[in-house]
Amino acid sequence: MSGRNDCFALPPGTHWTPVDETLAALRAAAEPVTPVRHRPLAEAAGLRLALPAIAERDNPPADNAAVDGYAFAQADIAGLATEGGRVRLPLTPGRAAADRRASRVLAPGTAMRILTGASVPHGADTVVLQEDALAEGGAVAFTPPTKPGANVRRRGEDAAVGSVLLSPGHRLKPQDLARLAVAGVAQVGVHAPLRVGILSTGDELLQPGEDPAAIGIFDANRPMLASLAAAWGFDAVDLGAVPDRAEAVRAALDRGAGSADVILTTGGASSGDEDHVSRLLGEEGSRAIWRIAVKPGRPLALGRWQGVPIFGLPGNPVAAFVCALVFARPALEVMAGGTWPDPVAYPLPAGFAMRKKGGRREYLRARLADGRVERFHSEGSGLVGGLSWADGLVELPDEAMSLAEGDPVRFLPWASFGLA
Ligand code: AMP
Ligand code: MG
Repeated sequence: MSGRNDCFALPPGTHWTPVDETLAALRAAAEPVTPVRHRPLAEAAGLRLALPAIAERDNPPADNAAVDGYAFAQADIAGLATEGGRVRLPLTPGRAAADRRASRVLAPGTAMRILTGASVPHGADTVVLQEDALAEGGAVAFTPPTKPGANVRRRGEDAAVGSVLLSPGHRLKPQDLARLAVAGVAQVGVHAPLRVGILSTGDELLQPGEDPAAIGIFDANRPMLASLAAAWGFDAVDLGAVPDRAEAVRAALDRGAGSADVILTTGGASSGDEDHVSRLLGEEGSRAIWRIAVKPGRPLALGRWQGVPIFGLPGNPVAAFVCALVFARPALEVMAGGTWPDPVAYPLPAGFAMRKKGGRREYLRARLADGRVERFHSEGSGLVGGLSWADGLVELPDEAMSLAEGDPVRFLPWASFGLA
């Protein structure tokens, strides 16, 4: 999705493009399009790093105690006589607690009370757990041997100053914010969220609040794709729903080109009389219709409108959803400044048997039950309920196959597509 105009040039015509070939071409063409900004850490959750995040300091900043106990020097107990199997060290008065004070000093041959997180006093190198020690009469007794360095977190063991903690392309998770915060990172260079325009097309489309008795189809794709975009950390830009009229589609694409970085349309992507998205991209934009060897899906119109990349997804909500996950998501992720995601598949036993013909990849709506993968009772791609029922997809290979119950299948939970 660079400035090059040939970015979607795949063999057109009746050739059925395999899924992997489609993905390879998308991957080759996709590149980041969003501006880079510096953001305070607290405002960077879910964004993708544009610059490496570098540790501003060591964490821990000094050796500190991992437990409540007593700090001492291993060398001080080496030659010490034992009483009842225990060594005794006099206690330095006071205690080391987790605070902002510079490190304390341990007098040679003594121990010091220390609490979790406190810097280990100079002169000490080991902490004995309070439950393993007996403190009385100004001394502490415990049973050797103790492991040198036990119960001490070493300076810099979590993060070393100057090291790259996270690299460009990484999408910041809540736990990443913690990791950067402890290393003193206050600001990060991130990509602004990708603006994803979403447009439904179709004369039959009804909008929320319209008379349920009316003939027509309620627009399922717009709310679905908008919330997908949001779940992936993009800004959804609602371009509305337009009837199957070239003028209306053109006006909506013009609006989209002005307000979004990329546009997802649904409907009108094949080569029928009313397939205006496809036709307009062919006549006035740049287009490559890809007949993709995938079920559900098939026609995917890819192109540009005023330079803005467009994914013309099928109108059928099941096909639109699967194509959005499989094809649009990885490309959008790269456009947003992220790294190309390959979904993780889990081989699990099939709870069903089936035959499939060769020449196309198939995705079944599926869910887990008793360690097996169940498929939705119908392959009818118009059944939106199956998407809602499913926990993920089963990916069947391009080749013909016959599957027996218990055979392993590739299960892709929604999480493999960046969804909860
Ligand atoms: P199309 O790709 O325009 O030929 O549409 C394929 C099928 O998907 C038709 O049955 C449409 O009615 C249906 N469809 C298209 N757009 C939507 C939408 N936004 N919501 C629900 N169904 C749709
Ligand atoms: Mg249509």
